Amino acid sequence: MSTLKLMHRKKIRNILDQLDYGWSQFTIEHFVAHVAAVRKRPIVVSGVALHEVTGMCVSLPTRDYIFYDVRRHRAVQVHITLHELAHLLLGHVSSVEYTSRIGDLQSILLHINTRIAVTQTNEYLWQEELEAEYLAHLIQQSVRTAKRLDALTRTDSAADVFIPPFTGDFVKGKSDDDV
Ligand SMILES: [Zn+2]
Repeated sequence: MSTLKLMHRKKIRNILDQLDYGWSQFTIEHFVAHVAAVRKRPIVVSGVALHEVTGMCVSLPTRDYIFYDVRRHRAVQVHITLHELAHLLLGHVSSVEYTSRIGDLQSILLHINTRIAVTQTNEYLWQEELEAEYLAHLIQQSVRTAKRLDALTRTDSAADVFIPPFTGDFVKGKSDDDV
């Protein structure tokens, strides 16, 4: 595995500087909205149950989607969101083309599957992972410098707080005394 080249580091820092973001206002929702405004493209962030990967992003002609695994700690969800956002900012995500509704879903799933399958062994895609992780790291550094670290572990919206499903052997009418 190669490490990130210095040239790439400078390019990535430049991309972050060009966002011209006021870090003292940072919350993940505010930052995502800022990036969407700069790119003039809506970004939809959703928590879903994912398997094998912790997050993914998909670019459709009119908007971008970021998905993160809701079963992770909120701090991890925020990190995943920043990592996926970094992929978008670095231009790693090519738009999925489609012609029909069924074609949509097929091409999206194929795109995601192909990427998951080859990332571990493909040197080019692995470099993209390093770049995205480096940009996420730079964002977190800026957040820390602005003394907004707590915003990396919480959310603006109560609706985003994930309540794990109850998986115990619950029997209706059974009282605590029976346990
Ligand atoms: Zn990635």
